[in-house]
Amino acid sequence: MRDRSGRGYLVPMAEYYSGLACQNGHAISSGVELGFSSNHCEDCGAAAVASCQNCKTSLRGSYKSGLSTSKWCPPAFCHGCGAPFPWTLAKIGAVRELTDAIDELTAHERNQLLEFLPHILADTPRTEPAAFKAAAIIGRITGPGKKVLYDLLINLAADGAKRVLAGG
Ligand SMILES: [Zn+2]
Ligand SMILES: [Zn+2]
Repeated sequence: MRDRSGRGYLVPMAEYYSGLACQNGHAISSGVELGFSSNHCEDCGAAAVASCQNCKTSLRGSYKSGLSTSKWCPPAFCHGCGAPFPWTLAKIGAVRELTDAIDELTAHERNQLLEFLPHILADTPRTEPAAFKAAAIIGRITGPGKKVLYDLLINLAADGAKRVLAGG
């Protein structure tokens, strides 16, 4: 298959192995086809998730060609339909619970943080502004909630957002 520019890149048909994660988002296998799979997570015991509950598309595992040195992380959203995986919903719930508990935040700031969240959980074209603005909101908190919320966001952020948050 040739791309539209005519430069003739070969586009492999199945570029990714199927991945397997637990309900809590721990990686179980980045390549089910390579032979490793399990019904439960060895870190937390939760049941394994192999596909999107919404559209049944398999989790995207590691890239087939080329060796990757980075550890596989389960995706935040389904590449088939865009639905958040159970661990992503749990992270959104955790941020919601924490922002509700921080009295200093206004309703507007809470809504903004939740609106930025999908761009912090996964790298998108809006990741940098979203992470920058989230860091600015957190920076205005003066109580102990500041560190807790900041640590939670850093912990669940994708790489691009992590860089912005850590630098801010
Ligand atoms: Zn687990
Ligand atoms: Zn899906």
